[in-house]
Amino acid sequence: MPAARDDTHFGRRTVPLQDKQGLVDDVFHKVAGRYDVMNDLMSFGLHRAWKDALVTAVNPPKNHPFALIDIAGGTGDVAFRVVGCGGAQTRATVCDINAGMLEVGRERAAAHSLAGRVTFTEGNAEALPFADKSFDAATIAFGIRNVPRIERALAEAYRVLRIGGKFLCLEFSSVDVPGLDRLYDLYSFNVIPALGRAVAGDAESYRYLVESIRRFPKREEFSAMLRAAGFARVSCQTMTGGIVALHSGWRL
Ligand code: SAM
Repeated sequence: MPAARDDTHFGRRTVPLQDKQGLVDDVFHKVAGRYDVMNDLMSFGLHRAWKDALVTAVNPPKNHPFALIDIAGGTGDVAFRVVGCGGAQTRATVCDINAGMLEVGRERAAAHSLAGRVTFTEGNAEALPFADKSFDAATIAFGIRNVPRIERALAEAYRVLRIGGKFLCLEFSSVDVPGLDRLYDLYSFNVIPALGRAVAGDAESYRYLVESIRRFPKREEFSAMLRAAGFARVSCQTMTGGIVALHSGWRL
């Protein structure tokens, strides 16, 4: 009998597990140059408030060294915000699998004279190229749903955190306000791909982004995955009627 094939989701499609990363990489190679402007347009600027909530939860110190890893950090948005909020000894490492996204991030760092404090490393969230217990905090914003083996990424985040370090995951979630859910679906499946076509010349990539949100585990299930990876004091805070959730846990 042939061995059972491991499948996963790529948006609405079912694909072999080993194919997903390549498909995700194609999406982010295509959108890298327009990624930041599209974030503002698609979320009406709300992604800034969601990321601010993440930075508040990271709470980088003002007076002592602090090392953040921003996993699937793309163009460095979260890393820049954490460094901007922390003291002079706050450093951030952006790790992302996509060279195109990192290149945009490096240019942004140079333009804001932050190249010394925010560094960019190409790497897979499922096998982070860093030693055990290297970071005080680990963040991942709108990245985890793109990773084929979420459990591996959570185990890796746990491994690179120091004891006492905090993990924070910002991700699209499920809307729990009656009425808003239908409006959100209409907007997501109609307006966002059209915006993608108009601004980035690419509707398909944005259709994937919307569909991947619907496939991501629900809040309770994801919290259970954090606990299974070893995180303690796991909690979850929802924002904007459940459109986004901020999950957190500690390595104790
Ligand atoms: N965190 C950034 C932000 O909030 O603006 C970027 C989020 S973007 C929606 C998702 C990112 O996940 C992309 O930059 C993509 O390259 C990255 N990514 C996808 N799979 C990955 C993997 N296995 N390891 C590391 N990064 C990955």
